[in-house]
Amino acid sequence: QVTIDKIAAGEVIERPASIVKELVENAIDAKATAITVEIKDGGISLIRIADNGCGIPKEEVPLAFLRHSTSKIRSVEDLTGIASLGFRGEALSSIAAIAQVELRTKVKEADAGIQYRIEGGSEKSLEEIGMPDGTTFFVRQIFFNTPARRKFLKTPMTEASHVSELITRLALSHPEISFQFLTNGQPKLHTSGNGRLKDVIYHIYGRDITGNLLEINAKANGVAIRGYIGKPLISRGNRNYENYYINGRYVKSSIIAKAIEDAYKGFTMQHKYPFTVLHFTIDGTDLDVNVHPTKMEVRFSKQQEVYNFIYNTLKDALSEKEL
Ligand code: ADP
Ligand code: MG
Repeated sequence: QVTIDKIAAGEVIERPASIVKELVENAIDAKATAITVEIKDGGISLIRIADNGCGIPKEEVPLAFLRHSTSKIRSVEDLTGIASLGFRGEALSSIAAIAQVELRTKVKEADAGIQYRIEGGSEKSLEEIGMPDGTTFFVRQIFFNTPARRKFLKTPMTEASHVSELITRLALSHPEISFQFLTNGQPKLHTSGNGRLKDVIYHIYGRDITGNLLEINAKANGVAIRGYIGKPLISRGNRNYENYYINGRYVKSSIIAKAIEDAYKGFTMQHKYPFTVLHFTIDGTDLDVNVHPTKMEVRFSKQQEVYNFIYNTLKDALSEKEL
């Protein structure tokens, strides 16, 4: 079992940011309204993720770390429609296989919380503790038992920047959740969770971006777009400022990127890639999500329609107002 989990971990967990992603998505699934992420040394020595979500009942704690164990209802549509964020109960078992994990969790019906320790797939302890409702994970010493994989980690600074980018995307995709991010004890981000996307954008990018934004809000044929498009801060030769989400999930799509850039093309000579934060709501049956858990590439069954709708919506908005 431990060996299989280690192999599975190789599929899901590449670096500290992959662990943060899985644990934050679990916190979101648990209906948390506030999530704190703290890392030390780029997450290599410590990742702490605390949420105020529903918690895990005592009897389910060890089970949650078994491969393919999930409390989430899933159907084929659920997976293809990416309605739920997690992937088939593999995250916790994979993380526990390659790190030292401490879990503290409390459901609101219980008098006490549970502290559970598991390292390299073997259980160390399970004890009752006093704590507030919710769940906190401490993940220490990533790849401590797989030195070959540990070698592939980059410097703490690089790993920290991957985590930071991820937190930015998560905060932008969930304005209704208050995200707090700390690295080596330094606070880096703290969003309000008031639900207003523009406030999150301001918090992350500042006035220079929010001063030049157009609001987008359109809907047709089962596709809805909401969000903002604007000038990037500096003319970067890449797509770093293009954020878009489908059904709450950060994804990559060459069709969406092309529609955004084509619409933007006629309006400026300076920048090829605009700043965007766009949320798409698309019917799950029109989506084809790559089967691999870490891939984010999405395809559509109605490619041309999706392209046309995005292109026309953005072009109309851009032609109404000078940026
Ligand atoms: P999945 O998310 O696909 O169900 P995971 O391995 O990520 O699989 O998690 C296993 C289970 O542990 C979840 O189904 C859920 O019941 C529980 N769980 C994990 N993290 C949390 C959390 N932060 N709050 C509440 N329950 C959690
Ligand atoms: Mg999960």
